[in-house]
Amino acid sequence: MTSGHDSVRSDLFIGGAWRPGGAGEFDVLDPATGEVVARVSDGTETDGVAAVDAAAAAFPAWAAAAPRERSEILRRTFELMLRDREELARLISAENGKALADARAEVTYAAEFFRWFAEEAVRTAGDYGSSPSGGTRTVVSHKPVGVAALVTPWNFPAAMATRKLAPALAAGCTTVLKPASETPLTTLAVVRLMVEAGLPDGVVNVVTTKRSGPLVSAWLADPRVRKISFTGSTEVGRVLLRQAADRVVNTSMELGGNAPFVITEDADLDLAVEAALVAKFRGGGQACTAANRFYVHADVAVDFADRFGTAVEKLSVGPASEGNDVGPLISVRAVEEVRSLVERAVASGATISHRAAVPEDGGFYYPPTVLIGVPDDADIVQNEIFGPVAPLVTWTDEAEMLRLVNGTEMGLAAYVVAGDLGRALRISEAIDAGMVGVNRGLVSDPSAPFGGMKQSGLGREGARAGLEEFLETQYFSIHWPR
Ligand code: NAD
Repeated sequence: MTSGHDSVRSDLFIGGAWRPGGAGEFDVLDPATGEVVARVSDGTETDGVAAVDAAAAAFPAWAAAAPRERSEILRRTFELMLRDREELARLISAENGKALADARAEVTYAAEFFRWFAEEAVRTAGDYGSSPSGGTRTVVSHKPVGVAALVTPWNFPAAMATRKLAPALAAGCTTVLKPASETPLTTLAVVRLMVEAGLPDGVVNVVTTKRSGPLVSAWLADPRVRKISFTGSTEVGRVLLRQAADRVVNTSMELGGNAPFVITEDADLDLAVEAALVAKFRGGGQACTAANRFYVHADVAVDFADRFGTAVEKLSVGPASEGNDVGPLISVRAVEEVRSLVERAVASGATISHRAAVPEDGGFYYPPTVLIGVPDDADIVQNEIFGPVAPLVTWTDEAEMLRLVNGTEMGLAAYVVAGDLGRALRISEAIDAGMVGVNRGLVSDPSAPFGGMKQSGLGREGARAGLEEFLETQYFSIHWPR
């Protein structure tokens, strides 16, 4: 059972061995053609228990391993990912559909988490001090949380896995990982590189499955699982938070977004267009940080729409293998959802001002589209589009614009392009979002704390904070007679 890509195993990976799943196999499709690229083992809850058995058995030795030892495995994985960058990028494009340039950038970004946490793994933090009343000494230390369940989405098949695996392993946790069933191949390829880097058996276990709900529920009910780190929709995150409550499982949640992109009247419009193209069309708009709604000052709205729209019309859309700028969406259903949002926006008064061309047949394509005159309460502004559509809303009063920007339950990313940095910072600080790109369309950085406010999530990934999500604090209150 190997996939079309020679280097990728399509079985489950449990206790250091590749083995078939109990529920047969399922297909992984190429969104650019709709054709099957691989068949992957379908794991059951029983396979899930076997994965936890392996992770629990490996935990004591891994937790006790020297930080330097853990660090070096992570560092070697970083180097191996860069060695195989092109092959990994092609695999991401094959199962996810994203443009090769985006896939290559994802591999580099994903690999950086191994480098960053290889460095963090050896910087163990602690504290020592006297209690205020004297005599007693307080020593603060940290322990790995324990076996961690990691659940990842399809939109960044490499990075969403490495952003969890690297800090979990640096902290001394062992893991059970369930990648999205749409894109399991890249995760399996990364794990194979971790094995090459010296990963001990049982430290990382991967269960691919079509039965996400039952598998993850079984993990959350298992007393040996002490942590869940989830990236995906707010809807599923809420379900998992409820389940985690039963056993008070430690949770990290990276959930949905609805990023505003604000352009002021004094903004450099060339810069605004450049940032908007990145924030909107990276991965075809299927990023949790994707700009979802553009608030353009009325004084520059026509000029910006014209320049941005002209650039959007020039985007080449098609299979990644042909070197296009934008690929297909992940599924037929995704195309239908985006189409429906655009139709409803047009029915409520918006106009399609610019559009790119898409291949006529095959693949799950939706044309990159600019919508102008969008009412500020339109569904397309209120909901995560997850597709290549840019709705433009105009504003004149800053306070009113900020009210609209913050009038959502989501608070992941935001973007502000302004001519004056002081003003950009004032606007940025007034936005309830975990990450704000100022005069740029990208916020992801392994050394920075990635995460959202409000219903966009709990906790942070990357930075020092990403490691702390996998650590428990323990202190010793020490008294000794003198
Ligand atoms: P999703 O919530 O449908 O799926 C995410 C993962 O959860 C997948 O592995 C899926 O198989 C699994 N899953 C689905 N139902 C489940 C259930 N009942 N119990 C347990 N697991 C279940 O999300 P998606 O469609 O794969 O990804 C898109 C969403 O992810 C968007 O909302 C996007 O904003 C969000 N996202 C957030 C971040 C972030 O860092 N905040 C990053 C990427 C994507």
